[in-house]
Amino acid sequence: MECTCSQYRAFDLDRRSIYKRIKATPAILKLLLLLAESGAAKLKLLQCPHCGQFWQTGREMTFGNGEYGFQVPAIIVEEWRQEPYLQPAAWMLYGVSQQSYYAANTFEPSDMPCGVAQCPNRAIRGSGVCEHHHIEQLQQFGLLRKRPEGRLFHPYNATAPA
Ligand SMILES: [Zn+2]
Ligand SMILES: [Zn+2]
Repeated sequence: MECTCSQYRAFDLDRRSIYKRIKATPAILKLLLLLAESGAAKLKLLQCPHCGQFWQTGREMTFGNGEYGFQVPAIIVEEWRQEPYLQPAAWMLYGVSQQSYYAANTFEPSDMPCGVAQCPNRAIRGSGVCEHHHIEQLQQFGLLRKRPEGRLFHPYNATAPA
């Protein structure tokens, strides 16, 4: 039997596409070989025995924590264990959160130095710290989504999707 890998290209980063992929994932994974599993999130690295394509899984609470599979570049298992690939849905949610935050807030530097020791930046108006540290604090307190961890791969790049 031929594999179905070529039917599944990188999915669009929108809710509908992600839910659709979650639904399709059990059937996709059935045809793949499990190479490794990683960490508390139980991410999986898999490979298609027919065409050799590598796959990884991701999960996102926002999407019901459903497991979804996506294609990734070939990788040595040990390297993957150290740093699995970025999860596309997490990347999308991060981009959306950043974008809506920046759309709703403007940052004007004040005359005061940033309150964080050694930071060379000026504090932004209405906050005791600079823009960078302001965002960092919001992320620490769970008010803004943290940049997701993971190895970047094509077609995703260092700029989060908006
Ligand atoms: Zn295949
Ligand atoms: Zn600062």
